[in-house]
Amino acid sequence: MNASFAIGNVNIVNERAGDGLLRGYNVVVDGKGTITAVGPRDTTTIPEGCHRVDGRGKYLLPGLINAHVHLFSDGKPLPELLTGATFQHAVSSVLHSPIGTVLSRRRAQVNARTLLLSGVTTFRTVGDVGYEAVALQRRFDSGKELGARMLASGPLLAITGGHGSPQIAMIGDSPWQARKNTRINIMNGVSAIKIAATGGVTDARKIGDAGRPQMSEEEMAAVCMEAHQAGLLVAAHAQSAQGVTMALRAGVDTIEHGCAMNDEIVDLFHDNPLSLRGWSALIPTLSAALPLVKLDRDVTGVSDIVIANAHIAVDEMIQGIHDAKAHGIAIGMGTDTGMTLVTQYNSWRELALLQRFGGLTPIEAIHAATRENARILGLDGITGQIGKGFSADMLLLAENPLLDWGSFVHPELVVTRGTVLKNPRVQRFDDIDTELDAMLV
Ligand SMILES: [Zn+2]
Repeated sequence: MNASFAIGNVNIVNERAGDGLLRGYNVVVDGKGTITAVGPRDTTTIPEGCHRVDGRGKYLLPGLINAHVHLFSDGKPLPELLTGATFQHAVSSVLHSPIGTVLSRRRAQVNARTLLLSGVTTFRTVGDVGYEAVALQRRFDSGKELGARMLASGPLLAITGGHGSPQIAMIGDSPWQARKNTRINIMNGVSAIKIAATGGVTDARKIGDAGRPQMSEEEMAAVCMEAHQAGLLVAAHAQSAQGVTMALRAGVDTIEHGCAMNDEIVDLFHDNPLSLRGWSALIPTLSAALPLVKLDRDVTGVSDIVIANAHIAVDEMIQGIHDAKAHGIAIGMGTDTGMTLVTQYNSWRELALLQRFGGLTPIEAIHAATRENARILGLDGITGQIGKGFSADMLLLAENPLLDWGSFVHPELVVTRGTVLKNPRVQRFDDIDTELDAMLV
């Protein structure tokens, strides 16, 4: 068991404070990793014998929550060999071979570690090769291995030739097959379900492919019914008005990437009768889409078709964020780690992009990545807030993140379920970071 500790006299980033900061607060954590007291330092005593971290002049916020993660890659540009049509079946066979399975497990473990060390204390995978993320979640939850809080999807569900297939998808071409695939994932212990409602950018073969509807509304409704019966939320990759509308009508709980919204879409987000909780949320992923249109082809290594589709997807996504904000729709934070140039340690960059391109204020972006994401993922009351009774999932920064996103690059402490990681360091790809920095200037 961890010794109890406290962070004294710290500034807490909190959207309910006037300027986003509660100044001079004490935070006390017990030996089980639960926050037991939070309050002004004059009135909140730190118990005798409790290890004390001096928080003076520093900034504490809930650990980041990333709702859209893939653990199969570190984010260096994916070779066309892996995404192109020519070798997709060969690549898939290797990935699913015994050696491929061992390698997937190792990669997932390394990437999950990087996420944690970069300040992501909770994440959801949305498309794995097999059940490597499920196995990781089990080890982390049991305490056998130190790791973030996770929700794991296993393979995503798609149609024949659909987005993510065959590499990271299970294929079904009828409502009953989709239902069976959902049952197979549930039997294997997943804690989230992911479907491909439309085509995607990375594996597009033609211009316009990215948002084209793939799964039928009936197939998606069958998945949602089965997942919801097991208490699981359904995430849908969806990048066009038609695809998003069909997915929401079918009862999908989170729309990944998103599109410009019409009245029907806005209404369905707010009031979605077939969803698990009666409402749905948007998880944009600017980190995955923007580099493809903003950075040089030499850097991204993608085809003209991918770039053309990315332009469409980016415009839809940015408008979708503005529409969601204007209509009070729940906006969470996801990055699509593992995709081209989306590393496992740059989740904070999504906050900067949400501010720069999505029109969110810094505190709104942090809210999306913490408290709101916890609510969206059904983890409210557990994590996402620095409050009494919450899990001690926290991030201590030297500078004010509301004024300088760069303060996330080297956190002083990452606290996961009460375990303190001091001065965590990750392996960075400087060439990628230089390119990504240029997008924010
Ligand atoms: Zn994704």
